[in-house]
Amino acid sequence: MAAQHTQRWRGELRYDESMARHTSWRAGGPARRFYKPADLADLCVFLQDLDPDEPLLWVGLGSNLLVRDGGFRGTVIYTFGALTALDWLDDKTLRVEAGVSCARVARETTRRGLTGVEFLAGIPGTMGGALAMNAGAFGGETWEVVKAVETLEGQGRRHLRLPDEYEVGYRSVKGPAGEWFVAAELELKPGDAEESLAKIKRLLAQRGASQPTSLPNAGSVFRNPVGDHAARLIEACGLKGACVGGACVSDKHANFIINTGNASAADIESLIKRVALTVEREQGVALEREVRIVGEAKV
Ligand SMILES: Cc1cc2nc3c(=O)[nH]c(=O)nc-3n(C[C@H](O)[C@H](O)[C@H](O)COP(=O)(O)OP(=O)(O)OC[C@H]3O[C@@H](n4cnc5c(N)ncnc54)[C@H](O)[C@@H]3O)c2cc1C
Repeated sequence: MAAQHTQRWRGELRYDESMARHTSWRAGGPARRFYKPADLADLCVFLQDLDPDEPLLWVGLGSNLLVRDGGFRGTVIYTFGALTALDWLDDKTLRVEAGVSCARVARETTRRGLTGVEFLAGIPGTMGGALAMNAGAFGGETWEVVKAVETLEGQGRRHLRLPDEYEVGYRSVKGPAGEWFVAAELELKPGDAEESLAKIKRLLAQRGASQPTSLPNAGSVFRNPVGDHAARLIEACGLKGACVGGACVSDKHANFIINTGNASAADIESLIKRVALTVEREQGVALEREVRIVGEAKV
C-alpha cells in the first residue's frame, strides 16, 4: 500500500490466501494479497490507496479461472458477497452489483414475472464474471439485456458506460482498458413467472444430465469453434477419460476437465495443452481456450 497514516478502508485484507478456496477447480496457488471490500464505496477508497503499479486480479466465484500453483503476485479483488446490492430502478430495470450470483439475478427477475435471463440460473458465477465473459447458455447471452454498466479504474475512478462502448462477441468482451465491472443495469421484458420457472427447471435438468456436476470443474474449457462443438472434437480424438495427475477429461462431457481430488493447477494446464495439441493434430482445428489462466508456475 502507499504510505498512509490512517487506514481508510473497512474491508477484509488477507495475505497468502489460497485461491484453491475461491476457484471452482479447487486447485491452484495463493494470492499475495486478497481484498474483500465492505461495499462499493469502500472498494473505491481501497483502490485509491493502493500502489498504482500493483497487479490486480478481479475474482467473482472463480468458476472460469485457474490460478497457477506459484500463485498470483498482486492483489485479488474479491467481489462475491462484497458487492451485493440489487435494486429495481423501475418495473423492468434492475441494477445489480458485480458480486451478486447469476442464480440470484435469475431468481429475482423470475419472481417479478420478467423474462430474458432464465439462462443465468445455471451459470455458477457472479454478474461481474458474466459481464467479463459475456456468459451465456441455451441461446441467451448476458449482454443482450445490458442497458448500462458501471466500471472502476485501478485508481478507484467510476464510470457509467453504454453497451456500444464495448465489442461484445461469443464469450468475449472488449472495452476500455484498465477498467473492471462493478455493476450493471439490466433491462428485462414482461413475461410469465410460472413459464420462466418451468424454463429454469428444464435448463437445470438438461445441465444435470449432460455435465459432471459432482466433481470440481470450470465448465467448458474451450470455446466452440464456428459450426462445431469443442466437446465433439475432443471426444473424436478419444480423449474422454484422459488424465494428467489428478486432472481428467470428463467422461460425461468432453469439454469439461474435472479435478478428481488432488489435481494441481499444473496438472490441469498440462491436460488443457495436451487436449488442444491433439485436437489440432488429429482434427485440424485450433481450439481457443475459454477459461482464464493467471499467475506464476511453481518453481
Ligand atoms: C459447472 C459449470 C458450468 C458452467 N456453465 C457455463 C455456461 O453455461 N455458460 C457460460 O458462459 N459459462 C459457464 N461456466 C463458466 C463460468 O461460470 C462463467 O464464465 C461465469 O460467468 C464466470 O463468473 P465468475 O464470477 O465465476 O468469474 P471468475 O471465474 O471469478 O472470473 C472469470 C474472469 O472474469 C474476470 N472478472 C471477474 N469479475 C470481474 C469484474 N467484476 N470485472 C471485470 N472482470 C471480472 C476475472 O478476472 C476472470 O478473468 C460454467 C462453469 C461451471 C463450473
